[in-house]
Amino acid sequence: QLTIDKIAAGEVVERPASIVKELLENAIDANASSIIVEINDGGISYIRIADNGEGISREDVRKAFLRHSTSKIRTEADLNSISSLGFRGEALSSISAVSQVEMVSKPKTQDFAIRYQIHGGVEVDFSETGAPNGTTFEIRQIFYNTPARRKFLKTAMTEAGHISEVISRLALSHPEVSFHFLNNNQTKLHTAGNGNLKDTIYHMYGREIATNLLPVSFDNGRISISGFAGKPEITKGNRSYETFFLNGRYIKNHIISKAIEDAYKDFTMLHRFPFVVLNIEVNKEAVDVNVHPTKMEVRFSNSSEIYDGIYEGISTALHEKEL
Ligand code: ADP
Ligand code: MG
Repeated sequence: QLTIDKIAAGEVVERPASIVKELLENAIDANASSIIVEINDGGISYIRIADNGEGISREDVRKAFLRHSTSKIRTEADLNSISSLGFRGEALSSISAVSQVEMVSKPKTQDFAIRYQIHGGVEVDFSETGAPNGTTFEIRQIFYNTPARRKFLKTAMTEAGHISEVISRLALSHPEVSFHFLNNNQTKLHTAGNGNLKDTIYHMYGREIATNLLPVSFDNGRISISGFAGKPEITKGNRSYETFFLNGRYIKNHIISKAIEDAYKDFTMLHRFPFVVLNIEVNKEAVDVNVHPTKMEVRFSNSSEIYDGIYEGISTALHEKEL
């Protein structure tokens, strides 16, 4: 109970993209190797997410939809060494409170699937059915029972754009998972899931960028960086091509962006925004991920150590270009 109390409650569902993010993180945590995302109407009327992961057993289905019920954290010590993406146990309860959810799930150890329907937090169906191993969520009519919040949704195009960003980030941080994203029955992204980050970048950004990448591989004992940095000649007009993950999580961080940009600036003598996809690993004690409930912001205990490490890692990659 204490552990649960330590987990700060947060607003989980702001828009369709938040639902997609939570469900994709759950699928990844369930070790899915292939995930299909389909949306209609920017996800406002319909979202379907099908994974081939571990599934939820019959006796755990109802529990999964209870607030603060998570299978991923058991002790207070776990809180400080979280490796799964989700740990608050709020997503399914929050999503099902504000939409119409249908879930079909089958673990491979169970020879039938459970179909569970819950509308606005009220159970509508719990029955046995047939299905392949894995879990499929269908979410309909987000905010149907909270019209005030529904009003704040933007156009289908804008909401679809947010969803696309969420999927891209997860695809880049999980090249071992195949992501297939369809918007109104049209494929928007389909990654191979072969574990090769360069291939994922190719599927997402195209040939021009994928053929102009420098490998980044750096480790000074306190920070380690891997991934790819675009050659200086393919730099961009804004920060939107700077993607980085800290200990596996997509984050935005001014110190990291500045360190990357400074390294390019000192190399090219020009101030531009580069293309990078970086996996940054630091000691878990050096970072507090709990600053913001959506976990996009972080705080460092020693910012200059982070800055220096990133700067050096990127500089090294740029200088190795000539070799
Ligand atoms: P959290 O991810 O923080 O544990 P959620 O509300 O997102 O909380 O999910 C609750 C639980 O439901 C998870 O801990 C997990 O056991 C189960 N679950 C949710 N989605 C899936 C999935 N796609 N595959 C397998 N299990 C899942
Ligand atoms: Mg979750």
